[in-house]
Formats: sequence, C-alpha cells, structure tokens
Amino acid sequence: MSKVVKFGGSSLASAAQFKKVGDIIRSDADRRFVVPSAPGKRDARDTKVTDMLYACYDLAENDQPFEKELEDIHARYREIIKGLGLKCSLDEEFEVIAKNFREKAGSDYAASRGEYLNGILMAEYLGYTFIDAASVICFKSKGEFDADKTNRVLGKKLSGMTNAVIPGFYGALPNGRVKTFSRGGSDITGSIVAKAIHAEVYENWTDVSGFLIADPRIIKSPQKIETITYRELRELAYMGASVLHEDAIFPVRQEGIPINIRNTNLPEDSGTWIVGSTCQKSKYIITGIAGKKGFCAVNIEKDMMNTEVGFGRKVLQAFEESDISFEHLPSGIDTMTVFVHQDEFMDKEQKVVTAIHRLAKPDTIDIESDLALIAVVGRGMRSTRGTAGRIFSALAHAHINVKMIDQGSSEINIIIGVANSDFEAAIRAIYDIFVETRL
Ligand code: ASP
Repeated sequence: MSKVVKFGGSSLASAAQFKKVGDIIRSDADRRFVVPSAPGKRDARDTKVTDMLYACYDLAENDQPFEKELEDIHARYREIIKGLGLKCSLDEEFEVIAKNFREKAGSDYAASRGEYLNGILMAEYLGYTFIDAASVICFKSKGEFDADKTNRVLGKKLSGMTNAVIPGFYGALPNGRVKTFSRGGSDITGSIVAKAIHAEVYENWTDVSGFLIADPRIIKSPQKIETITYRELRELAYMGASVLHEDAIFPVRQEGIPINIRNTNLPEDSGTWIVGSTCQKSKYIITGIAGKKGFCAVNIEKDMMNTEVGFGRKVLQAFEESDISFEHLPSGIDTMTVFVHQDEFMDKEQKVVTAIHRLAKPDTIDIESDLALIAVVGRGMRSTRGTAGRIFSALAHAHINVKMIDQGSSEINIIIGVANSDFEAAIRAIYDIFVETRL
C-alpha cells in the first residue's frame, strides 16, 4: 500500500518544520511519495519563497539588478540545509537560476524554483529519489494540464519505485518550458500523483487540523468537519471556504481515493476526511457554512411571464451577450431574479438592462446591489425535515431579512441571499442554531 503525502509551505518553512515532516514520513512506511511546496512563511511577517521569486524575477525581466534578492532566497535554503545538517549545497543550482533569470526564462520558471529546490532538499533529507516535476507533469501546448499524458508518464515512472519526492506546483509544456498551476497548485500535484500510483490515501499536510464548519474569522473557534464528501466540499469551496486548491479534488475523485487533511504541527489529530460517499453521519445536520459578499440581484417582472415560452432564455441571452455568468436564478410566477457578481456586472449594467428590454420586453427591471450569498451545505439535510425552517427562524430571530432562498435539486445545499451588512450575523445565527444549540 502507498500513501501520497503533500506538505504545504508553512510545513516546510524552516529546518524545524522539515524535522516535523521527516518524523511524520518516517512514522509510516506507506508514506512513500512526497510532494513538497516551496518554503512558506516562518511567521506572520515573513514572505513566502514563491513571492520572493516572483519579485526577484520581476527585477530580472525589467533589466534591474536582482542578485541581492536571489541571494536572500538562497539564504532561506542555506538556513534549512544548515539546520538539518545536510551535506549538500545548492550553489550550482543558484548559478543556473541566475543565468536563466538573465535569459528571461519566464515567471513560471522563476516561481517553480521554490518547489524544485525544496524537493531536492527533501529528497536528500529523507534519502528518497528526486524526480523533477518538469519530466512527469505534462501540459498541452496551449497551457492546459494534460491529464491523460501525465497519468501515463507519471504512472510509468513511479511504478516499481520504492519512494520518490516530486515537487509540487509545476510541470512542463511539450517544448520543455516550465509551466505552473495557479497559486496553491501543489495540492493539485499531490492529487495527480495519488491518482497515478492508485494510492490508498492522499494526505494533505497543512497548518490546520482540517476543514472547519465555518470561517474562524466570523465564528470563534468553530468545530472541525470530520468527514465531508467531494460534492459538499465543492459547494463550500465555491462559496469561499479554502484550505485545499479547488482543482485538487478532480484527479483523486475519479479514482475514489480519499483525501485526508492533516496538521503538521499536531500530527495526532485525525484531520478531515474528504470522501466520495459515506455512511458516516455528520455530527450535526449541516456539514458546513460558507458565503461570499458582493452580489447584485437583477429582478425582472412581467405579467403572465409563466406562460411565455422562452422568456428565461431571452433574459439569460442578455447576460450572455455581455459575457456575464449568472450565479443563481430564483423565479416566481411573474418574476425572475438573476444573481450576478457585482464587480463583473457594474460596468456593463446598462448594456444588460437594455438588452433585457430588447429581447424579453419585461414590465419592470429593478436592480439591488450589495448582497451576500450564504451556502448551508450538508448531506444530512436530505433526510431531515425542517432544515430550511430552522435556518429561517434563526435568521428571523437575529432580525435578518432574507432576500432569496434557493435549494438545489441535490438537496445538500440551501443558498440564502442577505444584505452584505447582515452577512456575518447571518452566519453566526445559522452556526448557532445547528452547532451550538443543536436544535
Ligand atoms: N508555492 C506555491 C504558492 O505559493 C504553490 C503552493 O504552495 O502550492 O502558491
């Protein structure tokens, strides 16, 4: 059996953190494939190596001296090498990097060096084989990730290997040029490696003990989610909950491999399990709450709308013509509301309104701004009566006016629209009713 273990930047920010990681890996012989991030922040005021690399390369690209900035990055690695008592040196690697910066190798190349160098050190520290991700993580010539080719190449390379370190975050285009995923992309690499080797589990080690039911900036010390399904996670992540890169779910999901989010600083915590489906009941009816501010509601009214075939299509065409995607679409008999992102919509507002008039000939159009959407997600809601009722009575007690309700057909998700200014209070009221008082 084998496990893929991915460690985030804060887990590898210093020699002391590296040692914790080493202990974790050595404590379980199945932890054979390791995906490291670049060194992250050592404390709140520190800078991530990835950000240092972007800034350093920016200088190089603008023909400014960058040697001091590159030396500061080298110092971060030297500190780790010294703290771990390793015999290796990255001097030659840094010479190559400086040369490539001068030759303007690109910002993706620059950013990827954080993971590349950390991978070399990790392999040295563990006595594992180092594999440059550029040789196994493949992108297509237009820049999109080539899942099939990668799975083939990576599967072949890793089969029969006892262990390996594969740096996260980057791969290469067919012409060999380095290409990165979006920020936080080492999570995706870990998932890709887990798929390629048919891992038993993909452990994602970070600096928190898993997903929390609600945002800790809004709820003081919220409870942790023990088990969450991929679908629930998608709903919550889309609505702003973050711990794992959104795209990291897909490769393992196809293979039915669970993801276990773990805390490098508290390895005894069981963390959160992300699974395909489960008979594990969540402790509460809801699994999690997340939300986002900054939406607009475009309310469209027309008498007898319900009998007019194609009305909805015409309204949506008006948004499509301005290249605006809609978020939610609650409707009544003679009304239809289109929720859109305020920042996307603002500049095109009048163009869209004119188009709706032209295409759908409504009686009135009314725009409401500064709204927030809150998703209450839980597989437990399907089999429980009165969840929506409980949410709304909690909100009523908190004097919050509900602007919109939308329950998806999956029944694992209720979306509520409130004023931006009621956002935090609404989340607190919902958390309170389901978790604190467990009604
Ligand atoms: N080091 C990269 C970043 O800071 C990728 C990662 O850590 O996953 O975004």
